[in-house]
Amino acid sequence: MTSEETQGDAHRTTTQERGPFCTATCLCGWRGPARRARSKARSDAAEHLRDAETEARTGS
Ligand SMILES: [Zn+2]
Repeated sequence: MTSEETQGDAHRTTTQERGPFCTATCLCGWRGPARRARSKARSDAAEHLRDAETEARTGS
């Protein structure tokens, strides 16, 4: 596996290309905005993982 930032089993992000746009999605159902640059979509994904990590720490 070439996962960049795995914070658990529930969150695993991938990027999907749709025409000229690239969108980050996660196994949890999260979906980022459509980006023209894949690097942007990847940073969206990284941000989501960061948020998910924070949520896991503060939640329950
Ligand atoms: Zn997620």
